[in-house]
Amino acid sequence: MNTQRSQELYEEANLYTPGGVHTSIRNVEPHLIFTKAEGAYIYDADGNKYLDFQAAFGPYILGHSHPYVNGKVIEAIQRTDLYGVGTTDLEIELSRLICKHVPSAEQVLFCNSGSEATYHAIRLSRAVTERKKLIKFQGCYHGWHDYVARNMLSKWDMIGKRDPGSAGMMDEAIDNTLICTYNDLEDVERTFKENDGEVAALIVEPIPHNIGCIMPQDGFLQGLRDLCDQYGAVLIFDEVITGFRHDIGGFQKVAGVTPDLTTMGKAMANGYPIAAIAGKKQFMQRFNTNPGGDVWFAGTYNGHAVGTAAAIATIELMEREPVHEYVFALGERMRSGIRDIHARLGIQAVVAGFGSVWTTYFMDFMPQNYTDLQQNDAEFYVRYRRKLLERGIYKMPMNLKRNHVGYSHTEQDIDYALEVIETVLKEMLAE
Ligand code: PMP
Repeated sequence: MNTQRSQELYEEANLYTPGGVHTSIRNVEPHLIFTKAEGAYIYDADGNKYLDFQAAFGPYILGHSHPYVNGKVIEAIQRTDLYGVGTTDLEIELSRLICKHVPSAEQVLFCNSGSEATYHAIRLSRAVTERKKLIKFQGCYHGWHDYVARNMLSKWDMIGKRDPGSAGMMDEAIDNTLICTYNDLEDVERTFKENDGEVAALIVEPIPHNIGCIMPQDGFLQGLRDLCDQYGAVLIFDEVITGFRHDIGGFQKVAGVTPDLTTMGKAMANGYPIAAIAGKKQFMQRFNTNPGGDVWFAGTYNGHAVGTAAAIATIELMEREPVHEYVFALGERMRSGIRDIHARLGIQAVVAGFGSVWTTYFMDFMPQNYTDLQQNDAEFYVRYRRKLLERGIYKMPMNLKRNHVGYSHTEQDIDYALEVIETVLKEMLAE
């Protein structure tokens, strides 16, 4: 694989930008400079073509540069853009669609990123409960802000503790964040009991996709709902990844558990920048977009025509076409294909997943929480991913993250990827 041009450009990028990339987790070897994306494929500066399963960490459910979504965005920005005051017709239309489909969404507000959405959800929870503490789960990611930007991919001896990467963050912010173990209701109950009357909210990725695909055990999400009700805390589902990817109504629709507040982003607009916080009207009315509201909510670019038009187009397409049925079938084809390969070759690994998402954990049992993932052979994954990349299959750079299939993938794409996976694994066994 020739990546010479990418390497040259990467050196130039480093002159202007710390590390040459614009978000921390993009700094991965080999440093590729991308120049084109179309459907299921992405291309680098040397002309290498990759079948993409990373999907830019999740937004691309319909595929890159989708003609219908792009068309609607272009149509919108030829007519309209952004206004300092008032509301646009596009914002109203998108709000209507979200409130129609997402069970917890009685009202909705738009912002620009998932981090903003979770920040607002936590702040609102603190306002409505007049309490400070937050429960989150080790391994779940909710954005870059001080309230939540720890206890994600912690080093093993730092599970549940403060971890690094947090220079400059206010300890006072994270001091009020309590860390629990996913799929362990007793741990959550104990934490609520020990902090009775102090917990404002519990925030959870209903499926913790930031560590792959750990499925909630039967009754776990309902158990969280019940405990939040019992202890008077706000239940926040962070559906930034699961929302619109697993169902047009989010994973809450699939699970039949309705949170008080929901955060959304990523697949909502098929890659265009927009995010949302939605939930109970009684709570949402506290935001000061509403006269008399006392919880600050603002943003120059909130509701920009680019993001709102893209989200409307994405949701319209999901309403009209069997997007989820199609990507679920391809996801299953991928998972069962990989499992067959593992069985044929005697590879010790489990393939986790839901719908269009899959993760291969190189370990011998299905993990139930972050701690279990200590068993995953990360070094094996790094070599595996590199070999796949050299053969044109683009997977998540980090060993605990998930991969995605989208509406632009075909059965042939999946079968081709499976062929390459088998070749690579055979090669690794022979080494
Ligand atoms: N919540 C979840 C579940 C996420 O996966 C992410 C991003 N990976 C975020 C929040 C933060 O979103 P953003 O990167 O758009 O700020």
